[in-house]
Amino acid sequence: MDNLRKQLGEQFKNRRDDDSFVEQVAQLAKLSGDQVYQSTLSLLTSLDLPPTTSRRYWFEALEHQKLMTRALKRSVTLITAIADYIDKTHVLPFEPHLIDSNAFDKIVSETTKDSLTGLHNRSFFTEVFEQQISISKRYNTELSLLFLDIDNFKEINDIYGHPVGDIILKKIALAINSVKRESDIAVRYGGEEFVLLMPFTNNTNGMKVGERIRKVISETTFAAENHRLSITVSGGLSTFPSNGATTHTLLKIADQALYQAKGAGKNIISHFKPDKRRYMRVKYRNPVIVRELGIDDNTCHYGIGKDICIGGLLFKNEHPFSLGSRIQVHTNVKEDTSLLLIGKVIRVESYEPDHYDIGVSLSFGEMEKIAREEISGLLKTPH
Ligand code: GH3
Ligand code: MG
Ligand code: MG
Repeated sequence: MDNLRKQLGEQFKNRRDDDSFVEQVAQLAKLSGDQVYQSTLSLLTSLDLPPTTSRRYWFEALEHQKLMTRALKRSVTLITAIADYIDKTHVLPFEPHLIDSNAFDKIVSETTKDSLTGLHNRSFFTEVFEQQISISKRYNTELSLLFLDIDNFKEINDIYGHPVGDIILKKIALAINSVKRESDIAVRYGGEEFVLLMPFTNNTNGMKVGERIRKVISETTFAAENHRLSITVSGGLSTFPSNGATTHTLLKIADQALYQAKGAGKNIISHFKPDKRRYMRVKYRNPVIVRELGIDDNTCHYGIGKDICIGGLLFKNEHPFSLGSRIQVHTNVKEDTSLLLIGKVIRVESYEPDHYDIGVSLSFGEMEKIAREEISGLLKTPH
């Protein structure tokens, strides 16, 4: 009997505030013999069974609970076990098929959520993105996609360690959640990349949300272990239908916009600008000396300048730099005006063997960080 009370106490932890239920349990305590089993089963299943049958069902259901736990390799609640036992072994006037809703919720959560941040995971996003595009098409509404990437996150891991990095990821997720609306879907897309899917949101409003997230994060001091850190994020936005009608195009365009934001100095939210000639370009024919940063052998390459504009540079080169690599470019735009530029390769096109057009997005923020020695080393390199 004590065992029965213990089991019931465990079972009904979450119903202690339910007055009528507490009253029924109190009544139970006054009963004795097989009536206890009858009332208990009645409480658990609402079935009205004779006392002796109830006793038999009770003990068989306990055995059934053990079998189920072993078969499913996870704990099974008493209610689930009783429901499954009665459903499988006894013909009743009705045939309810019961679902253990807690376990079901847990499974749904595990398959759709990211375990570190609690945001939705990428596979859930892939499914929902398709659905949201269909809804937007059908109801003729707009849908915005914001792609966020933490700035210089590798540095944070390298300096403070991975556990601190993980704490920051969780806090960034909280910051995104604090700004987003109920209907927006926040996702951890990859390592330190997040996506916010905003139904019924045009480009202007999508930019406002992105800007708010950027601002909140840049103004927060993140505490992790014994450190207090400043973090920034960059973002790229694309909007259905003006930037594209498929998940693939919208993701690509948001990614390109993110790339523009990174190239323009980070801590920026950018949206896709279809007209690349927005900036005035200056044609020039001067040679450029190029060095790939982070490469130990200090090899310099010599290219020919093509176009220069705010935020970007294009030159011809014999060497195909890899996309995303960071390079330093030293050149003269006029006889007495020399420029030292640092940026990321965002375009490599080949027209003939050993003849490449290299597009570089310039990052002014990065330039300030480069050590003086590196700059003077480059300047001393013979032409
Ligand atoms: P950028 O500003 O250009 O985005 O530079 P970055 O250093 O953020 O970019 P990069 O893609 O080079 O580095 C991403 C880093 O994110 C690499 C990896 O160490 C870190 N990272 C990815 N997933 C996790 C994670 O789950 N936990 C932690 N702590 N770090 C992660
Ligand atoms: Mg990244
Ligand atoms: Mg990053």
